Amino acid sequence: CGIVGYIGPKQATPFLIEGLKRLEYRGYDSAGIAVFDGESIETRRAAGKIAKLEGTLTADPVTGKVGIAHTRWATHGPPTERNAHPHLSTDNTVAVVHNGIIENANVLRKQLTELGHTFRSDTDTETIAHLVQELWEGSLEEAVIGALRKVEGTFGIAVVSSKDPSKIVAARKGSPLLIGVGDGEYFLASDASAILAHTRQVVYLNDGDLAVLTPDGYKVMDINAVPIRRSVERIEWDL
Ligand code: GLU
Repeated sequence: CGIVGYIGPKQATPFLIEGLKRLEYRGYDSAGIAVFDGESIETRRAAGKIAKLEGTLTADPVTGKVGIAHTRWATHGPPTERNAHPHLSTDNTVAVVHNGIIENANVLRKQLTELGHTFRSDTDTETIAHLVQELWEGSLEEAVIGALRKVEGTFGIAVVSSKDPSKIVAARKGSPLLIGVGDGEYFLASDASAILAHTRQVVYLNDGDLAVLTPDGYKVMDINAVPIRRSVERIEWDL
């Protein structure tokens, strides 16, 4: 349902929670975040309100300067904590948030299970995390491109990995996504209202686009890794 991401010099968690709250009006049944803490990907998830996720974070905080977060509107599997995004790969090195529906999830799930991956949710989304691990060759964007070649359906996704940690890879097909260009920091959101308090400079992604955000900048490419130029637009409206 809703996606936000942060990469830059600040702690990611406060922005991620604030961004999720700004997307609450769209409706959701559960929420979660994944932050790279310098060593591994830490996730916190909760069924129900974002206030509940905040409670979990107060009891068990996560620190780190790159992170992704999600509000879920369940399509595959009940609205439980175990089905809340982000979803992790079997080796816990890849975390994914996803809006939309993976139509061939059942086939992929069977293939990935045969390859030795362990599914820990009922979601279609989790197949992406396992595919990225399975297709890893050294860079997150290459593995995400490989995974997206295998999925059918609609998606807005954001992916992070502890094996290529200074990076968020995002992609869209049939589900909105934009980059917020801050002052030495970059944001990702499915809806501009999530980031408007931080920057008015945005880059709207088109269907078929894949974006790589780092602390130093961003680039947009197509599914063949061919660079695409997308202009920065200024949002003039207010929240
Ligand atoms: N299909 C995914 C799920 O059921 C994503 C739903 C969404 O767009 O929030 O978990």
